[in-house]
Amino acid sequence: MRGSLAAAPAALPVPRPAEEPAEPTDPSAAGPTGGESPTAAEWAAAVAAIKNLPADATVLLACHVTPDGDALGSVLGFGLGLRRLGCRDVRASFPGPPEVPEPFRTMPGLDLLVPADQAPTDPDLMLCFDAASAGRLGELADRMGPTTIVLDHHASNTRFGGIHLVDPTAAATSVVAERLLEMLGVELDAEIAECLYIALVTDTGSFRFDMTTPAVHHLAARLLATGIAPAEISRRIFDSRPFGAVRLFGEVLGRAELEPSVAGGLGLVWTYATLDDLARFQQRPYVLEALIDAVRCAEEADVACVVKQVGEQEWAVSMRSKGGVDVARVAVALGGGGHRLAAGFTGRGTAQEVVAAIRRELNAQRPEDQG
Ligand code: AMP
Ligand code: MN
Ligand code: MN
Repeated sequence: MRGSLAAAPAALPVPRPAEEPAEPTDPSAAGPTGGESPTAAEWAAAVAAIKNLPADATVLLACHVTPDGDALGSVLGFGLGLRRLGCRDVRASFPGPPEVPEPFRTMPGLDLLVPADQAPTDPDLMLCFDAASAGRLGELADRMGPTTIVLDHHASNTRFGGIHLVDPTAAATSVVAERLLEMLGVELDAEIAECLYIALVTDTGSFRFDMTTPAVHHLAARLLATGIAPAEISRRIFDSRPFGAVRLFGEVLGRAELEPSVAGGLGLVWTYATLDDLARFQQRPYVLEALIDAVRCAEEADVACVVKQVGEQEWAVSMRSKGGVDVARVAVALGGGGHRLAAGFTGRGTAQEVVAAIRRELNAQRPEDQG
C-alpha cells in the first residue's frame, strides 16, 4: 500500500506548521556579511504598502538580469498573487533582452511580463525580487520610486530601495515572497504554487543544498498540495535540453581543467564556453546554465567555475563551492556577488584572463577567512 501522503487528495491544504519559522538562526548560516531576517516592522510596512494600494494602481515587479528560476518564479508567483488581491495593473519585467529561456516558457503568469523598455516609468509601487543590488536590475533600477519593496535572500544585499524584506536565512527569494503573500491573505493556488515551486527547487538544487531546512520542506508540501506536478516540472526545468546541447556539453566538459593546488590546496575545476561553441551547436545561451552542475561534481576540487562568453571580451562566470571556500567573497572582489556556496560575476578579457583573476583571488583568500 502506498503511504498516506501519496494517497492524499491533491487539493488537501497543508497547514503552515505552528512552530514556523524554523529557519536557521545561526548568523554564520547567513553568509559572508551576516545579515538579519526582516523585522516585524518591515513586514508590516510591506503589507501596509500593498493593502493601501487602490485597485487601479500601477504595480511593477522586477527581477535580476538573465533571470533564473528563483527570480522569474518569485516575480510571476507574487504578480499572480497581487492579481488575486484585485490589483488590475500588475506588470513584471527584467532587464536586458526580453527573451524567456525555453524551460520557463510554460510558467503561469507569463502574460504579466513586458519588455524592460515598456515597463511603466512611474509605478505607484515597485517590488524587486532576487536582486542583491540595484545594478542587477539594469535599466529597471531607475523605475524605483519612493515606495519600493525589496524581496531577497542575499546576505550581500546592499539595502537599496525603501522597504527591505531581505532574509539571508531563506533558501530562495520565493520563501520570502510566499510569506508576504500569506500575510496579505492570498491563498496558494496551483498557478502561484507552480511559480514558487520552480523558484524553490532552483535555488535549493532540488532540496540538496545547505539551506534545505524543515521550513523549506513544509513550504514544498504546501505548494505540492495545490496539485502541481513536480516530476513534470523538474523534467522541464532541469532534465530537458536539445540534443545539440547534449553534444555541446560533451565538448565543453572535455576541456575542463583541474588545478588541485589552487585555494591553498582545496582545488579548482573550471571550463569555458564561447559564443562560437553556441553557434556551432546552434544553441541558445540558457542551455549553459546547467553546465556548472556537471563541472562541480569533480570531487578533487572544492571550487568549480564555468566561464560563459556573452560578448567579445565579456564572460558570465558561475562559481560553486563545496564549503571550503566562500565564493561570494571571490565574486564580490571581482565585481559580482552571490551566496557563500554559489556566486558569480561578469569577467572581462579572454577566458584565460578571467580564470587567472579567479585563481589569484582564490589564492589570496586565507583559509582561516573562509566560513
Ligand atoms: P549562477 O551561477 O548564474 O547560477 O549564479 C549564482 C548566484 O551568483 C546567483 O544566485 C546570484 O546571486 C549571483 N550572481 C551571479 N552572477 C552575478 C553577477 N554578475 N553579479 C552579482 N551576483 C551574481
Ligand atoms: Mn537568482
Ligand atoms: Mn535566489
